[in-house]
Amino acid sequence: MPRKTFRAGEMIFAEDDAPTTAFLVETGQVRITTVQHGKTRLLGDLGPGALLGEMAVIDSSPRSASAQALSDCVLTPIDRNQFAERLAAADPVVRALLMSQLSRYRSALATLTGDTRQEPGRLAQEDTHAFDKIRLESELRNALERDQLDMQLQPILHIASGNIAGYEALIRWQHPERGQVSPIEFIRLAEETSLIVPVGEYVLKRVCQMLSALRERGRSPLPFIALNVSARQLEEPGLVERMLAQLDAHDLPRDRLEVEITESLVFKHSLIKHLIDECHAAGMEVALDDFGTGYSNLGPLLGLNFDRIKLDQSFTRSMDQPRGKAIVQAIVAMTRALGSEMIAEGVETQDQLDTLRELDCEYAQGWLVGRPVSLQSVLDTD
Ligand code: C2E
Ligand code: MG
Ligand code: MG
Repeated sequence: MPRKTFRAGEMIFAEDDAPTTAFLVETGQVRITTVQHGKTRLLGDLGPGALLGEMAVIDSSPRSASAQALSDCVLTPIDRNQFAERLAAADPVVRALLMSQLSRYRSALATLTGDTRQEPGRLAQEDTHAFDKIRLESELRNALERDQLDMQLQPILHIASGNIAGYEALIRWQHPERGQVSPIEFIRLAEETSLIVPVGEYVLKRVCQMLSALRERGRSPLPFIALNVSARQLEEPGLVERMLAQLDAHDLPRDRLEVEITESLVFKHSLIKHLIDECHAAGMEVALDDFGTGYSNLGPLLGLNFDRIKLDQSFTRSMDQPRGKAIVQAIVAMTRALGSEMIAEGVETQDQLDTLRELDCEYAQGWLVGRPVSLQSVLDTD
């Protein structure tokens, strides 16, 4: 929209007008007023650089004040859609904060002007959801401090020998009111803030304690434990050093810790390459999680030197169809050609296990082999 010029004394917009644009003051002075108990009250004078009329544009309410040019002035109109698009793309929590502040300001203004038409500020449903998220986030913070998170172990079967070669560590949160919260939900939440860092520290610490407990129990060879690393953790400097420090603190062999990276992160190619190099230099192994979930560009993915590739559950399920089986067979061959081993995820039936054995897949993980359980029950069933 082209700039607009207003002569001194001219109205830019009036109280109760329907909002279509906000304005940026380029030159001149603008006076903002409202009518209070029948009298005009000055809310402020604005000069170059100031934004005006944005409130009504943000929450689509009628103008709560009037704007008049004090001197000749030039304004740049900003269409409401320009704000709407950015607001829609913003972090929902930030948007909810903005809306909450706006509604508080409006009710303060209504009280001041004696305007009784104003409804008490009510949040839109999406803003309520954003606050639900913030609530869950502080509950997660508390859970972490109060030790209410827990790690479970799910066995990974070495198919040819029939031995349990290792376990995947899976985090659990038993919420006092909500019950079990899925890690998919709360890990994503933790990832949106720096909370993922202490959560990751907790996971690492528990995994090393568990390895140590298995060793004390006399498990020989000592099984490996795989832990999941998410996007934000990958970006934290010193991740591998912290892993090594924890392993060394328990005097554990480094190759008993395996790092799982989900396939959706492969676009962070150089970060992952760096992590793999560091892990290998330190003697740790790295697995590619959820292989085949559809994000990957096969070329860059296969350029990464993963020790193990974890076939996503959906492929395991598809093996009852000839095409599904053929695809898994091709993935096993590809995995082998790359010098990696394959773990099939989500193995629930004997038929699936038999097919995997026939296809020479090395490992199986899933409910058929065992559900995720506490460390104590792993120790008890030994
Ligand atoms: P994932 O790493 O792919 O973990 C495998 C998921 O499949 C787990 O879900 C597991 O319980 C489930 N599963 C295992 N066997 C079967 C089966 O036979 N059938 C079916 N239907 N499901 C099976 P869970 O524990 O809910 O974890 C979900 C995701 O949350 C994980 O996917 C992982 O991405 C993430 N996650 C879990 N724990 C952690 C953690 O400690 N740190 C991080 N960063 N992410 C974690
Ligand atoms: Mg995993
Ligand atoms: Mg997986």
